Amino acid sequence: MYNPRPTRYNTPMQPKKHEKPDINLTTPIQFAKGVGPERAKTFAQLGVDTLGDLLEYFPRDYDFLPEPVKIDQIKPKQEICTVGIVEDTSFLRFNRPPMFKVTIADETGFLPIVFFNGGYLAKQLEPGKILVVHGKTGIYKHRLQMNNPKFQILDEQASADPANLGGPKYPATANLSSRQIRSIIRPLLPELTSHIKELYPEPLRKKLELIPRTQAYRQIHNPTDEDHLAQARRRLKYDELFLMQLGLALKRYQARHTAPATPMHTTDTIDSRIRARFPFLLTEDQNAAIEDIVKDMQSETPMNRLLQGDVGSGKTVVAVYAALLAVANKTQAAIMAPTEILATQHYNNITKFLKDSNVRTALITGRISAAERTRLNTDIKNGDIDIVVGTVALLNEQIDFQNLGAVIIDEQHKFGVHQRASLRKAKAPHCLVMTATPIPRTLAMTAFGDLDVSVIENAPPGRGKVLTKWVKPHDRAQAYDFIRKRLRAKKQAYFVYPRIESDDESAEIRSATQDYELLSKKIFPDYNVALLHGQMPADQKESVMADFRAGKLDILVSTVVIEVGVDVPNATIMVIEHADRFGLAQLHQLRGRIGRGQSNSYCLLFADTDSEIAQSRLEMMTKSNNGFEIAEHDLKLRGPGELFSTRQHGLPDLKIANIIEDFDLLTLARKNAFDLIKTDPLIQDPDHKQIREELIKKFGTKLGLVDVA
Ligand code: ADP
Ligand code: MG
Repeated sequence: MYNPRPTRYNTPMQPKKHEKPDINLTTPIQFAKGVGPERAKTFAQLGVDTLGDLLEYFPRDYDFLPEPVKIDQIKPKQEICTVGIVEDTSFLRFNRPPMFKVTIADETGFLPIVFFNGGYLAKQLEPGKILVVHGKTGIYKHRLQMNNPKFQILDEQASADPANLGGPKYPATANLSSRQIRSIIRPLLPELTSHIKELYPEPLRKKLELIPRTQAYRQIHNPTDEDHLAQARRRLKYDELFLMQLGLALKRYQARHTAPATPMHTTDTIDSRIRARFPFLLTEDQNAAIEDIVKDMQSETPMNRLLQGDVGSGKTVVAVYAALLAVANKTQAAIMAPTEILATQHYNNITKFLKDSNVRTALITGRISAAERTRLNTDIKNGDIDIVVGTVALLNEQIDFQNLGAVIIDEQHKFGVHQRASLRKAKAPHCLVMTATPIPRTLAMTAFGDLDVSVIENAPPGRGKVLTKWVKPHDRAQAYDFIRKRLRAKKQAYFVYPRIESDDESAEIRSATQDYELLSKKIFPDYNVALLHGQMPADQKESVMADFRAGKLDILVSTVVIEVGVDVPNATIMVIEHADRFGLAQLHQLRGRIGRGQSNSYCLLFADTDSEIAQSRLEMMTKSNNGFEIAEHDLKLRGPGELFSTRQHGLPDLKIANIIEDFDLLTLARKNAFDLIKTDPLIQDPDHKQIREELIKKFGTKLGLVDVA
């Protein structure tokens, strides 16, 4: 008999040319019925490339309609849905309010409908149109009537089946309607969901009170009622959060189990010798952070800690403490900053603290000569330098440390975790990342969930207050008078602008260059005003900054370049022009430049805006000085996507869960994910096979998991 079994040279999986490809989760969207190459492009814009993506293209909203009834079955004071043809319309324009009346009919009777102020409907609701109406029935002059129901017009092509009217509403585009998406996805659901596999062992699924995964995908696209929908949502949200947390738990596990770090020993003598270097007592928060860090560094497991604290909260001494502990243990420390200005500032601070000590330090910037660079590299390699300060870019280059014990990365607010690992070698250094970005708890559990976190909440004592005022256009002159008074008292001021120069298109937007002329010549002619922006040559920037720091300048007119790395306690005024054009995080960051000295500081937000979001931001700024509060508010206003790109951290965007609204579910998912990694760190347990596969599907090779299936 002829044996049709293919040889391995003739793989059966290749579809023949004239056959349709298999329908499964990886099938390109263009092969779905009703799609084709053109629509596939539209789908691609929505992020849908495959049928699997389509299955995860969740509806944004739902309409649940009651079963439609015939008109003669309608009773008063009920929520009903019915379908009828428009028989007659009239517009009672002189009524108060004006009324648009429609009578619809089916084979059992007539139903009058009234739309108050509905004149605009005259064009849509012409006789002959088929309407589906949904709402509450009432009685008017002893007759049944509906007032202002929800309605939909069935166009000629659409079937008159009201089941097509309620149900899911998909995020649509101009050339792809929600209804079209629905009609593409609905027939595919049985086939596509048959490829979905359960992630959890049955007892666990039951314990978590989750419906089966297959069912969840069906129900999310086609729920029969609110309960069904809620079940489906909960299941899919949980999965999404769980997989995200599992990815983080795995990353954390891996970071801790690469190479061992040098365990740092400490004694009371070492501790007091380090503290003696600081000209002040450390605050409670600083001490708590140091305690966390010392505990981490005593272990062979490399430290992987995030130190959070508002601008000016005093993170630097904590960093220096960590560096000196490494040095006391005969290892080296690297301190990295995002910019040269910041690196230089750190270096200056550190050398001040370490004056007359034996600790050898070096600053590596782009400006040192090649010869100097070679000499420093040799010294670092020989262990003749203890603490190296530089920019992240420079220190990530080929620097050969003799024995690097600790790396401290000051990310300021440009936080990018991806740079963390690059200094790692056979022996892993302890790693401390500092950020001035106040990260709300919800985000800390997601985007940075693989780090341990210490927080400095309260700034050192003896600081003046920072008062913030939103200045409207008619108060400008008065504000200038106020600033003049402060200048006369020998205080300094920042003026910050959204752009360097105005062009023709944005002539109405004030710019640093334009206002520099105005401020120096007309408004504050008796004071020293200087301009600073990012397009100036580096040495010019440096000398302007040096003059401002030395008090030779009264006013610094600039763009957001001063956001990073300026610490001038005598500068107590911050003017932000077009404050409505800045995000909350940025405004807060800018304001952090003042309030560093003992006297009170003033932040003046110049803004004239109708935008509700902008107004809400400005009000928040005037109300709060607390970075965490502001960040939480920002998170609610804008969503996490903008505050932090989750993609930047190699995490997939969340499609259905919301880290704020679903915080409880997030907490549960996080606990379960971290517990799983504790017991099965390589995810090899046969019970976890599907979880492992799903994780690989989501994160690819980024997590270092190899597909063993
Ligand atoms: P951050 O890096 O968190 O923005 P810094 O470390 O630059 O803040 O500290 C801001 C200012 O506060 C610096 O001038 C620093 O010398 C000072 N400072 C830090 N800790 C204390 C303290 N415990 N007591 C008094 N002043 C402190
Ligand atoms: Mg700092």
